[in-house]
Amino acid sequence: MEVLLLGTGAADGWPNPFCTCRSCSDALARGEIRGQTAALVDDVLMLDCGPEAPRAALRHGRSLAGVRHLLFTHAHSDHLGPQALLFRSWVADGVPLDVIGPPDALDACRQWVGPSDPVRFVPVDAGDVATVGDYRVAVLPAEHRVFRDGDAVLYDITGPDGTRLLWACDTGPLPREWFARVRDARFDAVFLEETFGDDARHGTRHLDLASFGEVVAHLREVEAVTDGTDVVAVHLGHHNPAPPVLRRRLGAVGARPGDDGETVVLGAARSGVRTLVLGGVRSGKSAHAEGLFDGVPDVTYVATGGTRDGDAEWAQRVALHRDRRPSSWRTVETDDVAVVLADATGPVLVDCLGTWLTARLDRHGVWDSGDTSAVDDDIAALLAAWKAATVPVVAVSNEVGSGVVPATASGRLFRDLLGKLNTQVAAASDVVTLLVAGVPLHLASRRP
Ligand SMILES: [Zn+2]
Ligand SMILES: [Zn+2]
Repeated sequence: MEVLLLGTGAADGWPNPFCTCRSCSDALARGEIRGQTAALVDDVLMLDCGPEAPRAALRHGRSLAGVRHLLFTHAHSDHLGPQALLFRSWVADGVPLDVIGPPDALDACRQWVGPSDPVRFVPVDAGDVATVGDYRVAVLPAEHRVFRDGDAVLYDITGPDGTRLLWACDTGPLPREWFARVRDARFDAVFLEETFGDDARHGTRHLDLASFGEVVAHLREVEAVTDGTDVVAVHLGHHNPAPPVLRRRLGAVGARPGDDGETVVLGAARSGVRTLVLGGVRSGKSAHAEGLFDGVPDVTYVATGGTRDGDAEWAQRVALHRDRRPSSWRTVETDDVAVVLADATGPVLVDCLGTWLTARLDRHGVWDSGDTSAVDDDIAALLAAWKAATVPVVAVSNEVGSGVVPATASGRLFRDLLGKLNTQVAAASDVVTLLVAGVPLHLASRRP
């Protein structure tokens, strides 16, 4: 499954538009604006749909025209914006939509649906298992309520590709017996609310940093969460510390904050997903690429930079990169990337295409001759291997086209060739991310 996070904020978002606290000012200054939490799965299934979600989809470049199933967790107004059903009725030409949720949530929708609208209401209760299109949906109880106990639920969803996610929003701390329901689930991703940050006295049925950590620990105990699970904190409110601190705090329990507009490709660490990570010098692109294989032990790391005799600064940078990587990873120093990709039986990380291209230009003496035909052949071979890879592959590359025009002919040649190479690799990738000042911008994603 592919999950587009339409929002990752609490009911009032983060920052709260009316608040001047440090957390809100800081998030605003960073441009980290979180709207009400909701997600779009495979463009066909929506997880919650508060008033902000439909517009968020458009802002992130997605249409909701293909949505066939709408799953509501509960009737709180940040999760349930039934006006969307009215908007749909003005354009939908008979294509049915399932609206699934606790009976109270569905009742709140009925006045927005006309008698002839092709909407099918499917009430569910905790404990139900439903087939929703190509998805298997197990309904779990939430420690949350709107009007009465039992009128808020969580969803355990298995996709047509066999990947599995937990949508756990909203809920407070879950009782011990709850975890038996997800024993051995080995979720690919868990989206768990963490509303209150360091405010432990909120007295609401929500999670804060401490209780979020406890829920994750219990999920680990029953192997619902494993090292391969992407644990994503959502429903984030302004009681949380500033985003960089929050990242560190969540990282300590093996989780991370979700970002609005982020695409989470489930099973990326175990299926043949191709990811290109672009960025300028020191943009954080290598660290980001390595993070994509967090917890994956058997990664082959392809260092294309080779050794530079007598260059102490280069040696130091290489050593720093090496120290950052897990010791279980295998490092291969080569520019024969196509061969490594073809032979790979486990995940491969190539760092980076810029130095690979430099090595090939050196090898064929292109700097002097200007004849790029041999390098063009190399690029074609690399692309063919990239497309044919059956293991997860991540390539890092330099984004060099935005600066001034290089003063030398060789500089311009390199810039043009690398721009072309990046474009071709991007076109053959499932996920393309650009790092700017350490911040990942998700440029494109396709379902693998
Ligand atoms: Zn909420
Ligand atoms: Zn709620």
